[in-house]
Amino acid sequence: MSLYDHRYDVFPQTRAVMRQRKWYNWRDNKFHSLVPPEQGLTGPIYTSIAYAFNTAQEAAEIFSGERSGYAYPRISRGSPTIDTLAQKLVELELEDRQLTSEYDALLTASGMSAITLVALTFADRGRSIVSSPYLYGGTYHLFEEFLPRLGIECIMIDDPCSLDSWRKGIAKAKHPALLYAEDDANPMLIKLNNEAIQELAHSHGLLYACDRTIGTPVLEKPLLAGTDIVVHSLSKNMGGHSHALGGAIIGRKRLVTQIRESYFPVMGPVMDARVADCILKGLETLEPRILQKVTNAKYVISLIKNHPRIKHIYGPGGDLFAFEINGTLEDARCVIESLELIVFAPHLGDIQTLAIHPASTTHSRIPKETREKLGITDTLIRVSIGLESPYDIAYDITSALNGLT
Ligand code: PLP
Repeated sequence: MSLYDHRYDVFPQTRAVMRQRKWYNWRDNKFHSLVPPEQGLTGPIYTSIAYAFNTAQEAAEIFSGERSGYAYPRISRGSPTIDTLAQKLVELELEDRQLTSEYDALLTASGMSAITLVALTFADRGRSIVSSPYLYGGTYHLFEEFLPRLGIECIMIDDPCSLDSWRKGIAKAKHPALLYAEDDANPMLIKLNNEAIQELAHSHGLLYACDRTIGTPVLEKPLLAGTDIVVHSLSKNMGGHSHALGGAIIGRKRLVTQIRESYFPVMGPVMDARVADCILKGLETLEPRILQKVTNAKYVISLIKNHPRIKHIYGPGGDLFAFEINGTLEDARCVIESLELIVFAPHLGDIQTLAIHPASTTHSRIPKETREKLGITDTLIRVSIGLESPYDIAYDITSALNGLT
């Protein structure tokens, strides 16, 4: 019986915080006794990277993957701190407690390493990925340049909102294995229909993996509807305070184990326990942060949308939106440099409002012609809304736009 059990029928957010406290209850291993439940309000951080075995049999079983346990972070489950975060992510994505035992999460050093592992594991040996072209710049670059060098074909379809376009991509691919998309596609924030895409994938015997960094599990939980793999950059909203870089791959145990036992131990992009602890702290406030930021984003859009210098607004997708200005590349740069409250930074998902000019930063390595076809023009500015007053955020954007001659 936990200290908090009598409070279990309270608000959903409080329940989420209480689940976090399961740190003290759900593990039954030798570390447990080191932390008397009544003492700390936050859990300990297990920084050890090596764990002693009790018997040779136990060592052999952990190494072969027959038994779950700790040994060394690249080749086993990491540490109790890493495991606590992994368990928490599975619960956030699935909610339904009965299902959580069938799923697992693998934590990685960054979102990019999570995406690379998924691609390498499920499309190696000459297989193909069929992907939406609306991707974070790093992912686009991985798919367009680096994976083809390894013999992995990546087909970028024209329109991820059209199932016909996905079908054409599958038909064009030599050995299709994986469909891939960001479902709040960055930075144009095009919302995709995960259920329809995964049905199509499954009808062709393919897997569907989806980057859910932007929406977070607060806004949608596609694993519940049958998506095979969800990846996250935990560096964004999940951590939420720009204090920790990390990634996660969440899916059915069989698929996650395949990654854990193939490229993960040889590449070694492990997450540090201190980082996992920072992300755990961030997750405690995930739901209220996201809900407030989504409200703020809608409000800011309503306040700026009629400005004569704004040509078009994309989104909001979660707490993000992007706007195209009437003007030139120089004008866009001038607007972003004139912002006073909003921080000009290559990042999103913080509690502070951030802005970026994708054409000269996150998406600058995509050839201009392709970039413009994707709608990422020279005058597009992406905004990641924070928790400041929406009036102040809107005032900052409007003042910067008014400053254009
Ligand atoms: N996916 C999306 C949607 C992103 O925006 C980013 C980074 O901005 C990544 C993945 C990569 O994550 P990380 O920076 O943690 O490697």
